[in-house]
Amino acid sequence: EMVLAQLGGSISRALQQMSNATIIDEKVLNDCLNEITRALLQSDVQFKLVRDMQTNIKKIVNLDDLAAGHNKRKIIQQAIFNELCKMLDPGKPSFTPKKGKTSVVMFVGLQGSGKTTTCTKYAFYHQKKGWKPALVCADTFRAGAFDQLKQNATKAKITFLRKLYRVGSCKNCSRSGRHKQEAALFEEMRQVSEATKPDLVLFVMDSSIGQAAFDQAQAFKQSVAVGAVIVTKMDGHAKGGGALSAVAATKSPVTFIGTGEHMDEFEVFDVKPFVSRLLG
Ligand code: GDP
Repeated sequence: EMVLAQLGGSISRALQQMSNATIIDEKVLNDCLNEITRALLQSDVQFKLVRDMQTNIKKIVNLDDLAAGHNKRKIIQQAIFNELCKMLDPGKPSFTPKKGKTSVVMFVGLQGSGKTTTCTKYAFYHQKKGWKPALVCADTFRAGAFDQLKQNATKAKITFLRKLYRVGSCKNCSRSGRHKQEAALFEEMRQVSEATKPDLVLFVMDSSIGQAAFDQAQAFKQSVAVGAVIVTKMDGHAKGGGALSAVAATKSPVTFIGTGEHMDEFEVFDVKPFVSRLLG
């Protein structure tokens, strides 16, 4: 109930309009769903996902029930809420480290998505919980990545390992041209993954990439075995619908979100409050 009470903005307006209608027929329901579709697209949820959701809701919501004077608004609100939660829950939990055993977590994502920042936050979070994390820089792609991570680690008093793995840089990969550069990044990622045999590959995605989220997440998933997603820069203007797309594309849960540049601006991701925010 508390979560539902937070639903607001254009979605609640659409629902209100529908509630005000004397007769709830197919047209009134469609208008309402179209309005909601628009709102979700504005939140950067992928078009296909929104369309599928609309179809599902139509199947779930029974017009006869609505006509019989039940709380229409609530029924539809609940259906939308449930559908979105379902979309964000891939149905399998993410890997969590086991006590007494070394775990390797590999962070992948486009340049600038927030990997360096996020892996430090992730290590810091686990260190506070009594784990003994260590950071290793396997990014031979971006000049300065090594120093940036080392600095972060030092600041957070996290062990920084210089050369745990010898990971070759992708010598045969041309660095010129955006497309070639991306191909080179994916190739290097595969090599690092083979060398380190990670227990978990974490895909780090900038929430502001909008509608590009689905394709980007899928491209990563096709190169390495992405097991979870972290969405960064949720403190910005992005509404974060890209997270739904990333979950759909990788079939992996979002486990954390980044909400700022600082070490502690990092939250465990909970589906329900997120959906409320998305709808609000
Ligand atoms: P990388 O190239 O993937 O390693 O990305 P970085 O970790 O260097 O991050 C790129 C930029 O985004 C840096 O300026 C970070 O401070 C910033 N950044 C990362 N995560 C967040 C976040 O959750 N919120 C905000 N506002 N900035 C972030």
